[in-house]
Amino acid sequence: MGFRDLLRTASGEIAEAIFPSNIYCVLCGSLIDRSRPYALCDECVRKLHWINGGTCDWCGKALPDTYRGFSPDGRRLCYDCMTREHYYRRGWSCLTYGLHERELMMDIKYNGKGYIASKMGDVMYDRMESLIEAALAEGVIPFDAVVPVPVSRKRLVRRGYNQSELMAQQFLRRWGQRLREADTADPNSLCPRLEKHVLVRSRETVMLRSLNPEERRLVLHDAFAVNERMRYRIEEKTILLIDDIYTTGATADACSKVLLEAGASAVYLLTLCSGGNRLPKGES
Ligand SMILES: [Zn+2]
Ligand SMILES: [Zn+2]
Repeated sequence: MGFRDLLRTASGEIAEAIFPSNIYCVLCGSLIDRSRPYALCDECVRKLHWINGGTCDWCGKALPDTYRGFSPDGRRLCYDCMTREHYYRRGWSCLTYGLHERELMMDIKYNGKGYIASKMGDVMYDRMESLIEAALAEGVIPFDAVVPVPVSRKRLVRRGYNQSELMAQQFLRRWGQRLREADTADPNSLCPRLEKHVLVRSRETVMLRSLNPEERRLVLHDAFAVNERMRYRIEEKTILLIDDIYTTGATADACSKVLLEAGASAVYLLTLCSGGNRLPKGES
């Protein structure tokens, strides 16, 4: 191979490294165009259970069209929210937890693929986009701070990252980008701050997966705390709590409770996946 050829090959490789023309679908691994949103191929986009229909007005879980549950105040609530009050004011979720959502979460949590969590931060931003746009149109900020749910120290060491924090980072990166594109005069005043040290795990907890809702609440009681030195940063602030999965709401409530006790004025919730709708006895 001549020098010219060598040079061409080398520069081609460099160009490819700087501007990769394609990447891999985070779910199935097939080659996709780099411009694909969320790094998912068409087929995998179709396989996932996107929440874009009716949801519970409190927790944000998807509700079947046939579901007819209303609370006395007229809100359409899932059975869980009808039978239990939450500390957070309102929740939103992007995907209903199913087989493929589980695959994504397993890769993020146990296979070291933190970059998928970042991609999912885009999904979460897009889920909230209309609400964010409506607020920005009025020149107001819907949330003062974004707080990711912390993972235990043991899991953080093993995993190397907190997936909810990665999601929150990308969510806010998009928010900042949006403000810069619009040439907002003071973008900082309209973008929530990331508060990743305010909420801490005060002790290790067992895996929640096999526990029922009451057991989860018991296990998580006092599992979270607000870092006293950081407390001033959330006092009288509206918080958006970010977590990867919502099932019974035990984690979201335990976190919201301590944030409110520490002086936050309201807590809202955004989760990537939600699932496990219980139905009243007799229905299936
Ligand atoms: Zn795919
Ligand atoms: Zn609900």
